[in-house]
Amino acid sequence: MGVIIVTGIPGVGKTTVMKKAAEGLAVEFVTFGTVMADIAIETCLVKNRDEMRKLTLEQQKELQIKSAEKVASMGNVILDTHCTVKTPKGYMPGLPEWVIKRINPTAIVVVEADSEEIYNRRINDPSRNRDPDTIEQIAEHQMMNRAIAMAYAALSGATVKIVFNHDNAIDAAVKQTVPVLK
Ligand code: AMP
Ligand code: MG
Repeated sequence: MGVIIVTGIPGVGKTTVMKKAAEGLAVEFVTFGTVMADIAIETCLVKNRDEMRKLTLEQQKELQIKSAEKVASMGNVILDTHCTVKTPKGYMPGLPEWVIKRINPTAIVVVEADSEEIYNRRINDPSRNRDPDTIEQIAEHQMMNRAIAMAYAALSGATVKIVFNHDNAIDAAVKQTVPVLK
């Protein structure tokens, strides 16, 4: 299987879709944001994961490299991460060349939903400090992620699978994902 990367903008439900799709499979789940946050909290850069995207780009890049090295040593995993991260300076590639080449994935899953659906899910999620994007900004973010996913594919030879996670359609999302995990 190798490394399967799963991406999707905050609030799309990527973690839920992948956990269900991987049920019963002997595969380890790794959340890149958690690997990064563990390092960032340990070194006193942040107090929680939602502060990381406001760090300087240099700090975020250093965290990406350290985390990529850690993940590369783990073998076959499903890696939950982001195609792009919205920083105050613009979109930051989540898997720039020096990261994607270390991780060398076999497939990249991009979980999407309608911008309106994501907007409403974010409003109803008090557990995270989500950014207050408009519906248009959410659409732009998903468009950027699709484009950069194919760039990551060109750098790594991975396939890209778009999976739709519409409201009340988790089973359909899981069904689209399962073949990628075989
Ligand atoms: P998540 O729990 O998936 O929303 O991730 C939490 C945070 O981890 C994100 O808001 C980003 O700051 C950071 N993060 C996750 N993956 C990456 C990545 N590939 N590159 C840079 N930052 C990332
Ligand atoms: Mg998640």
